[in-house]
Parts: sequence; C-alpha cells; structure tokens
Amino acid sequence: MTPPSVVLTIGGFDGSGGAGTLADARAIQLNGGYSCAIVTAITAQNTTSVDHIEPVSPALIRRQLQCVVEDFQIDAIKIGMLPTVECVDTLTRYLGAGGFRCPVVVDPVMCATSGGQLINDDVLGALIDRLVPLTTLITPNVAEAGELTNRLIKTIEQAVEAGRQLVRMGCKHVLVKGGHLDVDRGTDVWCHEDGFETFEPTEVQDGTVRGTGCMLSSAIACYLAQGRPMREAILSSKAFVNRAIANRHSLGKGTALTAVGIQVPRA
Ligand code: PLP
Repeated sequence: MTPPSVVLTIGGFDGSGGAGTLADARAIQLNGGYSCAIVTAITAQNTTSVDHIEPVSPALIRRQLQCVVEDFQIDAIKIGMLPTVECVDTLTRYLGAGGFRCPVVVDPVMCATSGGQLINDDVLGALIDRLVPLTTLITPNVAEAGELTNRLIKTIEQAVEAGRQLVRMGCKHVLVKGGHLDVDRGTDVWCHEDGFETFEPTEVQDGTVRGTGCMLSSAIACYLAQGRPMREAILSSKAFVNRAIANRHSLGKGTALTAVGIQVPRA
C-alpha cells in the first residue's frame, strides 16, 4: 500500500471539534491524507459560543514544529488561526527559512461564526506583510478578503479585484469564497497570475453549519499534497464540503457539525 500524503495543519484547537485542528484532521483523513497538527491557541468553545482563547507561546509553537518536521516529510501545510503577531512571526520565520518546498494553504481566520474575534487587532498587518508572500493559496471569505485588501466587497467584480490585489501582494493563488456576497451569493472567485475563474454555487449553504472554511482549505491542502493541480484540488474540495454539509449532525446544543459519521468502508 502506498503511504498517505502528510498534511501539517497549524491552527487553533477547538475542543468541540467543529472548527480548528480537529476539523482539519477530519477533512484530511476523509480525503486519504495523514494529518499532523501544531496548535497555536487553545480555545474554550462549544457549538454555541467561544468562551476563552489562550495563545500558545512562540517557544512552544517552535518546539511543536521542530518535533514534527524533523520526524515527517510534510507534503502540504494548512494554516488557520494565528492569534498573535508573535505567532505569525514564529511561523513565517520558520517557513521563510526555506525548510519547506511544499504547498502552503492559508485560511485567514479572523472571526467565529458566532461573532467572536479570534485574532488580535494587530495580526492583520503581520499576515499581509509576512504570511501572504509565502502563500501558495489563500482562501478568504469576502469579509476577510475585504480586511486584507481594505476594500468593500459586495459583488463578484469586487471579489475579483480583491483577489487580483492579493495576487499582487504575493499569493500565488487566491480563492475568495462568495458565501456572503450580496449578489450571486455562493459564487467563488479563483485568481492567479494568469487570470481568474468563477465557480458557480453547487448547493445553497444555509449558514447553520460550522467549520466549512476549515474543511475546504484542509481538503485543498490534502489534494495538493497528493500532487493534484490547483483547479482540480479546489473543485474536488468544494464537492467534499458539500458532502460534509450533507453529513451534518447537531451533536451539541448549537450549530450543526460537518462531516460527522462518514464511515470508512470496512476492509
Ligand atoms: N475556532 C477555531 C480554532 C478556528 O480555527 C475557527 C475557524 O477557522 C473557528 C473557531 C471559527 O469557526 P466557525 O466559523 O465555524 O465558527
């Protein structure tokens, strides 16, 4: 049996498993990869709200990275919640030192669906200056793309302009997720150095699920780790997220959880 590709997810720990590294690991495993995880923040949250966030110290992030990286060959990296500037700096120093040649997928997490802010106010500038230029694909929703580019995004044309700007800022590829667009809701925009393409929504997303952004970016990282081209990785991951939404369950008292109870066929 060929060994699975190894995807390293770097982000926050959400003990309810709705988002963050637990959700990432679920998406990676369901798509045939093996997931390692580095935790940047411990959050106390459940399916109804975020109660508390405690960033992990830069020294402990560095040690987690060292331990995993000296042991595994990493085929792709997915980056999610980076709560502090020190955390962004620790990570970008590590990535920038050139130890990795693999694709880096960034989901620029800023707020929880429940409304709570997940990163400090000064993190945005560090993401723009130091993480964006190291990124193979960034997957902002329209609000995040708006923050990163200082634009108001309500239409596809504005999403394309923001995507193009992010490419100029140093990302190789940008996927602006259109779930919250005012017009043509659900249409995603993929921008890269050679142009752009829009992807029509395949299913109406009803806003009652959590973790779809984590799942999408993790699945894309997993497909890139397996050597698939970017367009195919994005489209396959969108199909996976639709399946994850179809397999949702309300296990807690709040928002439904995605990709729950999908069984691996018996050997
Ligand atoms: N908590 C963590 C650790 C996350 O990484 C994220 C999103 O990526 C969230 C919470 C927010 O998830 P949601 O938007 O599904 O509430």
